[in-house]
Amino acid sequence: MTTVTFDSLNPATGAVVGSHPKQGPEAVREAVGRADEAAAWWAGLGHAERRRRLLDYKAVVTRDLRELARLVHEETGKPVGDATLEIVLAITHIDWAARNAHKVLGRRRVATGMIGLNLAATLEYLPLGVVGVIGPWNYPVFTPMGSIAYALAAGNAVVFKPSEFTPGVGVRLAELFAQAVPEHPVFQAVTGLGETGAALAADPRVRKIAFTGSTATAKRVMAACAENLTPIVAECGGKDAFIVDADADLGAAADACLWGAMSNAGQTCVGVERVYVVDAVYDGFMRELSERVTKVRAGEDYGPITMPAQVDVIKRHIDAAAKAGRVVTGGPDAVRPPFVDPVIVEDVPEDSAAVREETFGPTITVRRTRDAQEALELANASSYGLGGTVFSRNARRATELARLMRTGMTAINSVISFAGVPSLPFGGVGDSGFGRIHGADGLREFSRPKAISRQR
Ligand code: NAD
Repeated sequence: MTTVTFDSLNPATGAVVGSHPKQGPEAVREAVGRADEAAAWWAGLGHAERRRRLLDYKAVVTRDLRELARLVHEETGKPVGDATLEIVLAITHIDWAARNAHKVLGRRRVATGMIGLNLAATLEYLPLGVVGVIGPWNYPVFTPMGSIAYALAAGNAVVFKPSEFTPGVGVRLAELFAQAVPEHPVFQAVTGLGETGAALAADPRVRKIAFTGSTATAKRVMAACAENLTPIVAECGGKDAFIVDADADLGAAADACLWGAMSNAGQTCVGVERVYVVDAVYDGFMRELSERVTKVRAGEDYGPITMPAQVDVIKRHIDAAAKAGRVVTGGPDAVRPPFVDPVIVEDVPEDSAAVREETFGPTITVRRTRDAQEALELANASSYGLGGTVFSRNARRATELARLMRTGMTAINSVISFAGVPSLPFGGVGDSGFGRIHGADGLREFSRPKAISRQR
């Protein structure tokens, strides 16, 4: 039988990077079957041995950092430096998950709180079995590794379905794992389009799906998982707000805002997309921002739009914003596929697509607000709630605003800094999804609590 394949392309040049099989339900079933057997062996190794093996994996990925970064660069178009950074962050996660799994998940005695009964109890977190990881293309190493490393450290086997735009990177991550752990296929990749992911979500032997991608796809994955009551952790899109309060350091805020909005060509789930600036510092902030944005170059500071269809979404948002608001930089001419120049538009109505929907491009809308309270209310009016930022020199006020922001994560005086911190839980609310990856919560997400009580 001939194998049907698909190509991954370099979005900047159109050159074919690699050809990969479109793996259908049968191939996925076989991979899950192999994973099911491998899971029992991996779980049986125990925490200490798994930690050793995961640190071996970390060493192998570190050894091949340059080659992997090259592949990420070719499949996504992002600069090699950015590709290197995301792999370094992924390595940090492998290290943290390996070193902390036993502390978070290992068996411990628990006080029972029962009055009048002499009851002893222990609690531990056991592996689930096979975990299916379905990933996006925008950070094809860092993002899925935020689930894969934690699922493996918790003692599960993983079947990974990388994005059809970055299949080569996904396959390579699994091949490198097999160098560190050659005995059993504990971590495999299956390649293909959405149908391949759908087959993984529908397999009853998969005990959990870790999905990262768009909100629309998350709903389809949940529907498939519902059939077998397979739980899911859903890391979806965002529309992060950036609040500049009256006492903010405006230069630092402008630097952070631009980096948060433009890096990776804005193709970041926690990228800055909406900026709310209090009236007292609005003009000063816009001066700082306008001065800096002239130095940002598409094709140098960031790469192309990886997914051709996304260019149409970005264009629709920019056109709508430019029509309803006032263009500061860029505008409709900024779209030069596959590149998009930086775009800043002021006074865009809050019901515009550019404010409501995820743009996933190097574009921001900026709005003047009466005060920080109004900025907060507008920030919280989004259906998304992934990350956000507050800029203020007043630590107490900034913390208060950060706590009231309806997001899973908020950065004070920086942007998206939480993404790389392995000990902090990563995830959102509303249309941004549910469940948490990274940190102790991420380890528990891929485990089941096991309670044992004993009458003495
Ligand atoms: P996408 O939803 O198009 O695809 C994600 C993955 O799902 C791909 O591997 C795809 O093949 C697969 N898929 C498609 N249809 C499927 C189906 N019916 N069943 C199972 N799997 C299916 O998303 P994308 O374009 O790859 O990624 C961009 C999105 O991801 C953005 O919305 C971005 O905000 C989000 N994202 C979120 C995070 C986060 O941690 N919250 C991180 C990175 C990206």
